[in-house]
Amino acid sequence: MNRYTKVKWKNIKLWENVTEEQWYDYKWQLSNAIKDVETLKKVAVIDKQEEEDLKKCLKKFRMAITPYYAALMDKKDKKCPVRMLAVPSAKELINSPEDLSDPLHEDIDSPAPGLTHRYPDRVLFLVTNICSMNCRHCTRRRLVGFEDVHMSWENIQKAIDYIKGAKEVRDVLISGGDPFVLNDNMLEKIISEIRKIKHVEIIRIGTRTPVVMPMRITDSLVNMLKKYHPIYVNTHFNHPKEMTADAREACEKLANAGIPLGNQTVLLNGLNDCPQIMKKLMHELLMARVKPYYIYQCDLSMGITHFRTSVSKGIEIIESLRGHTTGMAVPTFVVDAPGGGGKIPVMPNYLISMSDNKTILRNYEGVITTYTQPADYRTNPCDCEYCKDEKYKPMDGIAKLLSGEKLTLEPANLIRTKRHKK
Ligand SMILES: *Cc1c(COP(=O)(O)O)cnc(C)c1O
Ligand code: SF4
Repeated sequence: MNRYTKVKWKNIKLWENVTEEQWYDYKWQLSNAIKDVETLKKVAVIDKQEEEDLKKCLKKFRMAITPYYAALMDKKDKKCPVRMLAVPSAKELINSPEDLSDPLHEDIDSPAPGLTHRYPDRVLFLVTNICSMNCRHCTRRRLVGFEDVHMSWENIQKAIDYIKGAKEVRDVLISGGDPFVLNDNMLEKIISEIRKIKHVEIIRIGTRTPVVMPMRITDSLVNMLKKYHPIYVNTHFNHPKEMTADAREACEKLANAGIPLGNQTVLLNGLNDCPQIMKKLMHELLMARVKPYYIYQCDLSMGITHFRTSVSKGIEIIESLRGHTTGMAVPTFVVDAPGGGGKIPVMPNYLISMSDNKTILRNYEGVITTYTQPADYRTNPCDCEYCKDEKYKPMDGIAKLLSGEKLTLEPANLIRTKRHKK
């Protein structure tokens, strides 16, 4: 494969008469997404068994594949990573006992429609249920892929009103669905409303369009976005094969508009659960000016058991990145804990032992070394200007134990504490 694959649609009979202008028009891509088995058979080899499985699967989950992404998949190889992310499999019909419909409690932690306020200073704002594509490994499959509905403006307004009233929110993460399936006007309407809120410092957008429909990243989109800086975009590449010439151009366009780019990858069985694939992906991202941000342990959403790996695989991947390549290429590996526990970072242990003044550490090569701590270091109460401002103090958690404000954190309703009360 070439360094930067140019997706060639003209070689595919179904699209041989599609012009350059049509192909690079994202609306054409959206309205020509592959949604049925008959059309799929024109771009991929589907055997009898697979066809039956597909039809069963489509009764429960929907399929939508942008022509661009479909043209990138291997026509024959069922193990092609692009194909695995696009074409449904009978395995989706298997439910494991651990599967949950809302594993991250995004609905339960929701103060307004589409809004999840779990962390102290930031909210997740799902502005649409629609995506350009129905990814097979999607966490939000309870929302995405069942019915195509944009949020009503009334509901969006309710969410914005909540943010207005929540002074602690300094970071709004706009996601979906995919916010970039909205047209520029609608998107601008939402972003400009959020930008008017004084206490909102940064706006982040989560989108998979640079990967599955890069032609969505138009000049007019980036020119609109850059009016509302600081804007960040996080995208979602899972495999180096997805970094085509068009995908790279989309990332560069965003970067040229001064938008810092991050990437979130999901660790997927048989697709990218390999340290070498991950390293290659991280390097490709950096070359497109995208900073690897997170690798996610695959969630416990319904029907994606076959995509899950062990947690240890993620640790092995981080072990093979840290030190072996630039720290710029090392994302944080997180398990998004079911039940609304949020993102929990997991990594190899580098701290081996400690005494009063020595810290024993190991590096990526296995060298064991000593850091001698200053003998007279005392954590005097800090009196910086931020310490005096309630806003910067941790509201909760282990940080409160460290600051001495709390002695213990206890689960509610311990049997032992109930006995005390009697
Ligand atoms: C992931 C997530 C965020 C953002 O987390 P960061 O670590 O700040 O990127 C915010 N809210 C919810 C509910 C999330 O799942
Ligand atoms: S683009 Fe994101 S939200 Fe949409 S189907 Fe894919 S993974 Fe799910």
